[in-house]
Amino acid sequence: MSETATDVDDGHAQAVAALGRAQRVLAVGHLPLDGDGLGSALGLVHALRDAGREAAAIVGAEPTSRLTFLPGLDEALRPPAAPPFKPDLLVALDGGSVDRFADLLAYADGAPVLNVDHHVTNTNFGDINWVDGSAAATGLMIYELLGECGLPIGPEAAECLYVSLVTDTGRFSYSNTTPRVHHAAAELIVRGVQPDVVFRHLYRSRSRAELHLRREVLQRLGTGCNGRLAWTEVTLAMCEECGVPANESQDLVDLPVSLAGVHVAVLFRETGDGIHVSLRSPGKLDVASFAQQRGGGGHPRAAGFTGRGPLGALRDHVLRDLDVAVRDGDPA
Ligand code: 5GP
Ligand code: MN
Repeated sequence: MSETATDVDDGHAQAVAALGRAQRVLAVGHLPLDGDGLGSALGLVHALRDAGREAAAIVGAEPTSRLTFLPGLDEALRPPAAPPFKPDLLVALDGGSVDRFADLLAYADGAPVLNVDHHVTNTNFGDINWVDGSAAATGLMIYELLGECGLPIGPEAAECLYVSLVTDTGRFSYSNTTPRVHHAAAELIVRGVQPDVVFRHLYRSRSRAELHLRREVLQRLGTGCNGRLAWTEVTLAMCEECGVPANESQDLVDLPVSLAGVHVAVLFRETGDGIHVSLRSPGKLDVASFAQQRGGGGHPRAAGFTGRGPLGALRDHVLRDLDVAVRDGDPA
């Protein structure tokens, strides 16, 4: 389901028009909350409020402690609370399909849904769909949209959008780290972002319990396919034993992906609703289509899906399929 340049241009023009006229806007990032979904929702809300419009972000789950410094979280709408106004636009951010938002899109209450996303697997579920797979982050699209709509980007909006950029580019390290990203990041720093403060909150604020969990997760590191495949896992029991809330374990896929020679890295994460499988592909394999075939989605280099347990059986199955995919599609 890849978008054409005309689709992107049409969606973009419609997004500019819709946001230009909207006066009462609800903004919602996908679940579970991540830096891009939450950062783009809060950034948009700050800019709209600074322009004198009514706006609120809907926060449908507890963000990880690393994201709680984001300005505006305290004023966000927490379901099942009623919104402070009847919206004339709901902006769905960074989610490729309706199920990524649980039942939160119902907050539109008859208003059109503007779907802003950068996942190539997006199902175009909105009334207006602006999907740009070439954007490194949804927050980058919002940054550019705000400029085009003449909406102000103050220090709070800037910090939120900067978090989108940092998290979705892997701290400016993935192949999506383009000049477009760095231009936006530079401009956001001009607007007041302090990169050292943001990076401390995001990456230098781990508890001892989290480091302990990392040790356990590293002990479960497995490799295959001549070192081209690496995986690890985190169970609810491991989180409990280490004293780490389960929603703090989302970024542990960074561990297998850091191993030299790895083409595909996998994290199997028990969530209570199933096993979430995070896939990263520094090699050539398109993990978005691998995830999409299993009911998920994402980007060619970073994708995920949720499968049913038990974890061991799912892991063996997925690793068998990946072994074949890596050998076929990404020869050493
Ligand atoms: P993560 O590994 O952090 O869960 O996800 C990596 C990327 O894939 C993110 O962009 C995320 O939004 C996307 N993704 C993860 N799981 C799913 C899923 O179940 N469905 C869809 N559509 N996208 C997913
Ligand atoms: Mn994103």
